[in-house]
Amino acid sequence: MDIQFLPGVGPKRAALLKKELAVSNIGELLRLYPFRYIDRSSFVKIAEARPDMAYIQIKARVLRTDVIEKKRMSVWISDGTGELELVFFKGIRWMYEKLKPGAEFVFFGKPAAFNGRINMVHPEVDPVPAGEAQAGALAMTGVYPSTEKLKNGGITGKVLNKLMEAALEKGLPYIEESIPEYLMKQCGLVPLHYAIRNIHFPKDMASLEKARYRLKFEELFYLQLSLLKQKYIRSRAEQGIRMSLVGQAFNACYDSLPFPLTGAQKRVITEIRNDMKSGHQMNRLLQGDVGSGKTMVAVLTALIAVGNGYQACIMAPTEVLAQQHYKNIQKFLAPTGVKSALLTGSSKTSERREVHSGLEDGSIGIIVGTHALLEDNVVFRNLGLAIIDEQHRFGVEQRSRLWKKSSCGAPPHVLVMTATPIPRTLAMTLYGDLDVSVIDELPPGRKPVQTIHATEGKRPALYKFLRDQIALGRQIFIVYPLINETEKLDYQSLEAGAEEIMQKFPFPQYKTAVVHGKQLNDVKKFNMDAFAAGRADILVATSVIEVGVDVPNASVMVIESAERFGLSQLHQLRGRVGRGSEKSYCVLMTGPKMSKESRHRIELMCATENGFELAEEDMKMRGPGDLEGTQQSGLPISLNIASLARDGIILNTARDWADSVLKDDPALTADKNQLLRKELRKEKYQIKDYSKIS
Ligand code: ADP
Ligand code: MG
Repeated sequence: MDIQFLPGVGPKRAALLKKELAVSNIGELLRLYPFRYIDRSSFVKIAEARPDMAYIQIKARVLRTDVIEKKRMSVWISDGTGELELVFFKGIRWMYEKLKPGAEFVFFGKPAAFNGRINMVHPEVDPVPAGEAQAGALAMTGVYPSTEKLKNGGITGKVLNKLMEAALEKGLPYIEESIPEYLMKQCGLVPLHYAIRNIHFPKDMASLEKARYRLKFEELFYLQLSLLKQKYIRSRAEQGIRMSLVGQAFNACYDSLPFPLTGAQKRVITEIRNDMKSGHQMNRLLQGDVGSGKTMVAVLTALIAVGNGYQACIMAPTEVLAQQHYKNIQKFLAPTGVKSALLTGSSKTSERREVHSGLEDGSIGIIVGTHALLEDNVVFRNLGLAIIDEQHRFGVEQRSRLWKKSSCGAPPHVLVMTATPIPRTLAMTLYGDLDVSVIDELPPGRKPVQTIHATEGKRPALYKFLRDQIALGRQIFIVYPLINETEKLDYQSLEAGAEEIMQKFPFPQYKTAVVHGKQLNDVKKFNMDAFAAGRADILVATSVIEVGVDVPNASVMVIESAERFGLSQLHQLRGRVGRGSEKSYCVLMTGPKMSKESRHRIELMCATENGFELAEEDMKMRGPGDLEGTQQSGLPISLNIASLARDGIILNTARDWADSVLKDDPALTADKNQLLRKELRKEKYQIKDYSKIS
């Protein structure tokens, strides 16, 4: 039913609800859940407020207001136990009108320490609830997402609560249960009607919990059901190049490896090998921390394809990385006699022509490259395997273009490699239909990287330490943040930093190379090569070196303004050292003042080297949507109430149930599963179909 027919709405408010909240009918309104609840029964006394408290609620009277140059307004409030300052930078006029001295309100916000006092910036202001005195009144009131426009249009929190009441009465009877009776029983879920009623107007804490669980479960269950269903369908479809041999090339390479493979590498190669000989298309995600030896796995995988008479391509996200890969794999390919080539945007026309014809006639077995491989004039004789490194920098579109390059009748096997550890819960959702392999073991002999946090005062000591390391023959990375490539300030700090380093580490005793994104490719390559070959002691760089660069002799990574980097980026950078046999260090330089979050990140970095642990923490801090590595691919569907960061346990349970349903009834044809089938067809569960693109 259209929202405008709800009592109290009408066409104007309906338009507003639609525009601001994307709600156009009563059903959608009922699925707009409160994001928090005001507990009417508990208020914090001002005298007891502490800056380390999370959001609190204070009931107090306004004492006075000060507007400072129209930019900032201070409002002093008191509840009899003390005084507290509220600070507003926006909506000053409106708040000034509202917060008349003497009036009493409920203020909701986060207490913070400022100049030795406690204040609250931009608290929410609610009227004192009228029902407070009534015994047995609802203890909790839902608070809904709101915007300034909604409030100006008269749709305040209170009005939304009223609308919700009306919507429940009118709309709830029309909402159909979405989970079959038998599953509800087995999974211990409350019925949908109960859940919706109690998510808006909880009877008590226990009912709210039951309602929340049911709604989160439902969301995650259908998400997993739809992902897993695709996987079941695909794994039954008989399409995929059967590569039954290990092949000569593989054995030649394997027999002359300079080191034994780690247990994890062996296990992963077995998993890959089983996929490739199964006759089904492989779609596998290979996760492994920096330095865990993914390149080796990639090479051996490519050689399986070659050994079966097919070509393989290895795609890297940047030119530097592609070059590095190409260089690195040469020594492993040498004993195999397999011909490889490199193709990037800066390949010369003559080279390009040669590579094109080598790919077409099949003489090139393994091609390493960048996006240049996707161009239309690149034609393979028989592409049987695509290995994609650092997958998150390749869009979905681009993968599908690779797919089309196969002329073997069946799609090529796909191995996606990522060094950004993705927490299990997220991997299950982002790649729910991919199989996941994890290299969870580093090659032996790695010494842990000691991570140190330092501020400006320690700089002289740092420089002395760097000189000592250089005297020992080691090399140093110094990295500056370049969050925004166009940001002038960032380049200034890089340039100023490089200048200082060259002053403190003068030529010719010390040699410093500088690398950043604004340089021409040739210049970048020249400087990078100088460092890689040991001709420079120090590399001052932006985070262009974040991925892949392998200089085993580098023993110190200094990260400037480390507070500006995300956790996983810090971890990637740290992974650039500790690759040789020498003890290595990572120094995180920060300013003296840091936000609580930055401090937490730095502390975590000093506490652990485990990328998966860091990724879990990162996700908790920032939410999965912002997690590095996921922005581009994005979540396959948007979640309304469940959170991948917080609801890992529910997700696991939901996935197990989805899996067990599909095991019995992969196509959902059984009578008892008709409801599931119907629900899955709804638009919100129409996820991007990864099976067609990867
Ligand atoms: P990743 O790509 O996972 O970050 P690399 O493949 O670059 O890691 O490997 C890091 C380093 O470890 C390389 O120098 C590589 O030659 C070496 N390496 C790989 N596997 C092993 C192993 N099993 N034993 C010893 N060293 C290894
Ligand atoms: Mg690598």
